[in-house]
This record gives sequence, C-alpha cells and structure tokens, in this order.
Amino acid sequence: MYCERCNRLVYREKCPGCGRRDLRLPGSEDFCFLTEPEPLWTQALRDILADNGVEFLERNIYGVGQVKRTGLPERVRFFVRYRDYERAKELNGAFFSGSFEFEME
Ligand SMILES: [Zn+2]
Repeated sequence: MYCERCNRLVYREKCPGCGRRDLRLPGSEDFCFLTEPEPLWTQALRDILADNGVEFLERNIYGVGQVKRTGLPERVRFFVRYRDYERAKELNGAFFSGSFEFEME
C-alpha cells in the first residue's frame, strides 16, 4: 500500500512513518521513497538513475539553509515513480550492494 503523506510504500496495516491507516494502492505515477544514500554517493545515484531514464525527485532532509548554517553534509532522500520503483531498487542495489539502504520499516 501507499502513504500519501510520506510518499512511501507501506507493507503493514499502518504507515510506520506517520501512523496513518487510510492507505491506498499505489498508482504508477506516484512517487515512492527509494533510499537515502550516504552523502558521498548522492551524485553517483543521481547519475545512475538519470542514465537509466528513471525519473526521480530529491528532497534534502535538512533544508539548504540548515546545511549552510551547520556545515552538515547534504542528506538527500530519493523518490521514484511507482512504475520505476523495482528497477530503481535494482539499480541502487547493484551499485551499492544494498549497504546504504535506509530502511524505515
Ligand atoms: Zn505516512
């Protein structure tokens, strides 16, 4: 199922991110949370997805202002469309051996 608030696929009765229960089936155009790579790999993942024609969204989890203020490394969450989700997961797994998988389950 899919949580609209968190933009993520949910494999339980309620969303572990926000606790919502009114989940729906994902549509092929819905953006789903893919992964949050180590800052070192952010650019590489962008390239891999772009090279393979996978459309993606990025969300900086701190916000740009905060990164500048604190000097924290950029942390970015990647979202891909549901129809590309399995493929994007494979691409991500093939390159990073799944070691940077950020599981929010
Ligand atoms: Zn949620």
